[in-house]
Amino acid sequence: MIEETLDPENWEEMRALGHHIIDNMVDYLKNIREQPVWRPIPPEVKKRFRGSIPKEGQDIYSIYEEIKEKVIAFRLGNIHPCFWGWVFGTGTLYGAYGDLIASTMNATSGDFEHGASYIENQVIDWVKEMLGYDPQASGLITRGASMANIIGLTVARNVKAGFDLREEGLQSDSTKLTYYGSEEMHSSLQKAVELLGIGNKNLRRISVNEKFQINLDELKEAIESDKKNYLPICIIGNLGTVNTGAVDNLNALADIAEQQNMWFHIDGAFGALTKVSPMSHHLADGLERADSIAFDFHKWMYVNYAAGCVLVKSAKDHYQTFALSPDYCTQGIRGITGGKIWFSDYGVNMSGEFKALKIWMSLKEHGIKKYGRLVEQNIQQAKYLTGLIKKEESLELLAPTSMNIVCFRYKKEGLGKEELNKFNEEILLQMHERGIAVPSHTILRGNFAIRVAITNHRSKTGDFDVLINAVKEIAQDINV
Ligand SMILES: *Cc1c(COP(=O)(O)O)cnc(C)c1O
Repeated sequence: MIEETLDPENWEEMRALGHHIIDNMVDYLKNIREQPVWRPIPPEVKKRFRGSIPKEGQDIYSIYEEIKEKVIAFRLGNIHPCFWGWVFGTGTLYGAYGDLIASTMNATSGDFEHGASYIENQVIDWVKEMLGYDPQASGLITRGASMANIIGLTVARNVKAGFDLREEGLQSDSTKLTYYGSEEMHSSLQKAVELLGIGNKNLRRISVNEKFQINLDELKEAIESDKKNYLPICIIGNLGTVNTGAVDNLNALADIAEQQNMWFHIDGAFGALTKVSPMSHHLADGLERADSIAFDFHKWMYVNYAAGCVLVKSAKDHYQTFALSPDYCTQGIRGITGGKIWFSDYGVNMSGEFKALKIWMSLKEHGIKKYGRLVEQNIQQAKYLTGLIKKEESLELLAPTSMNIVCFRYKKEGLGKEELNKFNEEILLQMHERGIAVPSHTILRGNFAIRVAITNHRSKTGDFDVLINAVKEIAQDINV
């Protein structure tokens, strides 16, 4: 019998391909500015994505050529300096090397006694320091802020429900739990309450003021009136809403949560990073008072996908919400199971990739001060863009710029609301198709907004002049 393995038959050939791939990747990133941000995928390329599963192996060089042609060439564009859509991160080359190392070690994160656990633990210590958060807090590196939000809201539920929720489950009790946040909350919070069995309607959406911040009086009234029939357990604060970058009054929310004996969770997916900025850290005032906070490394820390984080002030509550020790996976007294840090006791996953390495390497490569300067640079670029829009007769802002997100539209005389929305959508689509820049859109008070969210360490101030000129040029080209 011939015994097989997936290791290369020819290690030297694999080494040569590896060197070739690294060469390509370095050039790819080094020259990205000269490339279109995005390009449509032609039908003949799409056709080549079909076909059935390979029955036999192929030459490794030809597979790589296929990837170059079909995948690498048709990137989303978020590594480009002119990509400002949704909230995307830009990544770094050194971060990619981190993934290569982690993946070669095939290290799983979290449990057991191995180097990866110590790196992960140190990254969590560093982020507590970086955010000025309680050094005793526990934390977990997650796939993103969505999972971090789920974890925060789960601990909140289990702590505040008033009975043994893990054992009894929600069905054993008639108490109706309610969560509160503004109508600008991210959709992942809705997913979280749905998954937790709370139900979407029990996530109360409080209206916002002209700056898109939660209305505090309405929040207090909602909690008071709910108390008759419900158990209000958690307030969710936005530290950077996804639509406009608005920040709720976090200290006021912390006060209300304290008075009402409620949990205070912050969704700071990108906004938490303002804490490290030399000039804009005041935006994150009150962050340290949260019982739990969710944020992403892969957005405004520019770390390669995917990595988010949750911090929970009470490590005990966090542990008691998730810890389990099945017989086949218990901590031992020494050796390989002797590690003190078992991250599977702080979240949902058991196995998982070693995400911490690229974060750890990036923080060492640049130092936290540089991240602070880059966050500030993006905030200043948003200010600059806001200034350009204010100067243009034909453009108007649709929300105040409070952080790194700018929402605006082109004004065209004689168009009704719907036609104007369609007109701006057309500008945006053509901007994408021409490969000039990638803002995204949102709807603000019924109006279609071109939305520029700057979490990009490659953007330069002049790129925003290019954007504004392109908007005007495309608007001239469109016949209505
Ligand atoms: C992106 C985002 C999320 C979700 O984070 P993922 O990393 O995509 O899971 C949650 N809240 C806000 C405000 C976000 O911008």
